Amino acid sequence: MARSKSDISNSALRIFLQEVGKFYDKERGFEPFGPKKKQKFELLIFFNNECCFCGAEISEKTLSQDHLIPMNKAALGLHAWGNVEPCCRDCNNEKQQKDWL
Ligand SMILES: [Zn+2]
Repeated sequence: MARSKSDISNSALRIFLQEVGKFYDKERGFEPFGPKKKQKFELLIFFNNECCFCGAEISEKTLSQDHLIPMNKAALGLHAWGNVEPCCRDCNNEKQQKDWL
């Protein structure tokens, strides 16, 4: 539940970036990236079941999805194929909203 104007603003921005991401995926001929289990599986296969930061082995149960370009008002990363990457929870917690470099 939103606690402040900033929370509402961030939630609205994330919804907007998800919707733009769907449009971007459709325009490129991809099924929009969503919460589907099949897409998580494809992501893991593409990245050889490894965390994209530390290389630790991850599975569907330990998968954490990170946005290479963060979904925030400064970076405007999309929830779309090519910007979602698999990582372990430790790396995702460490990266959070920071730039991937
Ligand atoms: Zn990791």
